[in-house]
Amino acid sequence: MFWQKEIETIGRKALEELQLKRLKQTVQRAYKNIPFYSDKFSKLNIKPKDINSLKDIKKLPFTTRENLRENYPFGLLAVEREQVVRLHTSSGTTGKPKAIFFTKKDINQAAELIARCLIMTGIKKDDVLQNMMTYGLFTGALIMHYGAEKVGVLVIPAGPGHTKRQLALMQDFKTTTLHLTPSYALYLADVMSNEGLDPKRDFFLRRAYLGAEPYSEETRKKIEKFFSIDVFNSYGLSEMNGPGVAFECMEKNGMHLWEDNFIIEIINPETGKEVAEGEKGELVLTTLCREAMPILRYRTRDITMIIPGKCKCGRTHRRISRIIGRTDDMFIVRGVNIFPQQIEQVLMGVKGVAQNYQIILESYDQMTVRVEISRDLFDGRIEHLMNLQNEITEKLRSEILVKPKVELLEPGTLPVSEGKATRVIDKRTL
Ligand code: ADP
Ligand code: ZN
Repeated sequence: MFWQKEIETIGRKALEELQLKRLKQTVQRAYKNIPFYSDKFSKLNIKPKDINSLKDIKKLPFTTRENLRENYPFGLLAVEREQVVRLHTSSGTTGKPKAIFFTKKDINQAAELIARCLIMTGIKKDDVLQNMMTYGLFTGALIMHYGAEKVGVLVIPAGPGHTKRQLALMQDFKTTTLHLTPSYALYLADVMSNEGLDPKRDFFLRRAYLGAEPYSEETRKKIEKFFSIDVFNSYGLSEMNGPGVAFECMEKNGMHLWEDNFIIEIINPETGKEVAEGEKGELVLTTLCREAMPILRYRTRDITMIIPGKCKCGRTHRRISRIIGRTDDMFIVRGVNIFPQQIEQVLMGVKGVAQNYQIILESYDQMTVRVEISRDLFDGRIEHLMNLQNEITEKLRSEILVKPKVELLEPGTLPVSEGKATRVIDKRTL
């Protein structure tokens, strides 16, 4: 099933022609209406007329999130204030927020992209979507909400938290589809089993959209198994509308990134040079359809790669892999670069481990992984679980090449997150 078959399966040549046309318009508008970009262009000694092919995108300046902050609140607006109907800010996981504006057309376009994503996962009008992302300044809930309404499914704007109420809503209104963060999904699973509820017997769930933070294939499998559902990875960021930038189809093998709306580049974050297809690097995106806030070559700081080859679903928009991490999440212990997701991937693959964990960086050569054990293993003591502790330590050592200290915890010890989880506590910078 397709939402807009023609554009979703467009041939490469036609897609690139469309991209070039839209890129030229975007560059022209950014140059004409945003002093930040006209200044950058003069410093680089370029003019919009220098962009004559898609390759010419390399002549354009990068935009960083610092640039967005420097231009807060209205600096990057390309339209009159009267045309703007919505303000969002980034959730501020990593510092001060950035202001993102939408015109009516922008909101509609963001919703169109969500509609494509949802239809791609097999959703139908009789589905019920319980939206457990945070409503408000964060794009996560509202953009999904508008897209789902466009498709015509029943949306329950539940927001996050109030877990028992969530369960009641899910039962009363026969929720089929969840939209939430992976960390909250794991918590929800824990509460369900604690309440003696059986996801298959007591609920009507078919699928979940998980995004807003990195998670591993192991976590996906764990969640799919527990709830007996399909989990689809959903990627987006406020600077590029929020959710709906890239999404998995039924093949569940990478996320189609809507290339008629965004130009993808994958670069080496240190050199800024493009890497080969299939190689890991930082995702850089240029908006092609945005009115209120066109952004050129945005450094997302997210590490991913393009999955080579065609997708069986027939969509021609290229796929990016699961986000491996953010360049700013990476930490170094004993000279080794480590992403929290590598640790999560190991933990979620070990039997006996529950959903919650924390990484404590004590010094530049010492880290501790604190991890909750599953309820069925916990009998009031944890001292006798030496084998489990050793297994985790060994598996972590072989994945990250550093031997961490592993601390097993009673279930429910660590703080629970409803939105984005804080996994790393860096005591070296406190
Ligand atoms: P903030 O930068 O304040 O967290 P956003 O709320 O816009 O702002 O979050 C966007 C970021 O969330 C992305 O840049 C990415 O790092 C992360 N993210 C979103 N979806 C996913 C996903 N499916 N997998 C991994 N990370 C994701
Ligand atoms: Zn596909």
